[in-house]
Amino acid sequence: MSDSSRRALAVLGATGSIGRSTLDVVARNPERFDVVALAANRDVDGLYKQILQFKPRYAVMADSASAAALEGQLKSADIQVEVLAGPQALVDIAQLDSVDTVMAAIVGAAGLPSALAAAQAGKRLLLANKESLVVAGQLLMDAVVASGCELLPIDSEHNAVFQCWPHGGASAKQVRRILLTASGGPFREWTVEQMAAATPEQAVAHPNWSMGAKISVDSASMMNKGLEVIEACWLFNCQHQQVDVVVHPKSIVHSMVEYIDGSVLAELGHPDMRTPIAHAMAWPERVESGVGLFDLTQAGALEFFPPDEVRFPCLRLAREASDACGAAPAALNAANEIAVELFLNRKVGFSKIAEIVETVLNAKAWATEQHDSLAALLEVDREARALATQTAEKITLSV
Ligand code: NAD
Ligand code: MG
Repeated sequence: MSDSSRRALAVLGATGSIGRSTLDVVARNPERFDVVALAANRDVDGLYKQILQFKPRYAVMADSASAAALEGQLKSADIQVEVLAGPQALVDIAQLDSVDTVMAAIVGAAGLPSALAAAQAGKRLLLANKESLVVAGQLLMDAVVASGCELLPIDSEHNAVFQCWPHGGASAKQVRRILLTASGGPFREWTVEQMAAATPEQAVAHPNWSMGAKISVDSASMMNKGLEVIEACWLFNCQHQQVDVVVHPKSIVHSMVEYIDGSVLAELGHPDMRTPIAHAMAWPERVESGVGLFDLTQAGALEFFPPDEVRFPCLRLAREASDACGAAPAALNAANEIAVELFLNRKVGFSKIAEIVETVLNAKAWATEQHDSLAALLEVDREARALATQTAEKITLSV
């Protein structure tokens, strides 16, 4: 294999669910991938173990205390790694000359500056951090076009759509619609009353996918699918009316593209994130991902249902934010991040997530707020977080 097919990776969010799956694919294909940089939040032990295995040149922790703790461990083991700290270091490693591929797998809007930096620097951007596109879709897509960055979706649905998309051959105008599948999450069959009393443990117990806490709660509220509708609009240059959601509890069909001649193309497989990760890492080639043979005869009946926007109002709220456009999706995302965190910390009930998001979304004309720069969007993010916190305080006081 020629050296030109080797990829030099920075993995941002290395200790998380997507980060670990990414490194699992790297470990199976050592002749294809070099790990140049690894970044995590505060999980010093987790990053230390990954450094021992993958020997990057750079490691980034979110703050200087965690960075100092990591440096201490590395020194005792006599391992040479440059340890950096803080948000600017994430931006710096996303733009390193020695890195050609960036896995953006930080959770939440915290992942935006580094994902944007990778796009601006023309890296291959493997985008798991869907919040980046929700908050700053226009900015990110403009950067992708300006730099010639290869943007490849990691989210399983969007990766499936990408695989079914008309690259050459038919034109995007001949696509009738995108069909995003949704598992429906752990509360798919729960009543509104049952959901109101749901615990964080119940919300993170996803039936098919093993994921980080935030996205698991988003799946339970179906805000995840709402964020994914917005993500699809940016990735595939369409309006949300062209993106339909279909509930498919087994998560075997990962999404579909319907053409004007009636053809519906789908991508199927085990619900294992190593498949879309390996696909994007090796694209346009294919590599082993560790995912086993898929036996369709064992899969049983594949069922599809319409989504219920009454029991799951977050899906409706995301479409409203997409209609409003401008900074509204950034406000939606920020309010949701705060509401999910409060729910995980048992400060508000599960049903309050949608209530907080709706209150923040209607609190002002977000669409007309400035949103044409990273600084402007981070200001919207800050303001919406403050409003969400205030809203939650009012809700808890009134109970
Ligand atoms: P996770 O919580 O398991 O991991 C998050 C990672 O980000 C960790 O390494 C953590 O250390 C790091 N991190 C968190 N906050 C940070 C900060 N402020 N600065 C630097 N690093 C920080 O989350 P996950 O499930 O791996 O999800 C990551 C992203 O991928 C999310 O945007 C999620 O929506 C998306 N995604 C995940 C899955 C999945 O199956 N897990 C599927 C599709 C999309
Ligand atoms: Mg998804």
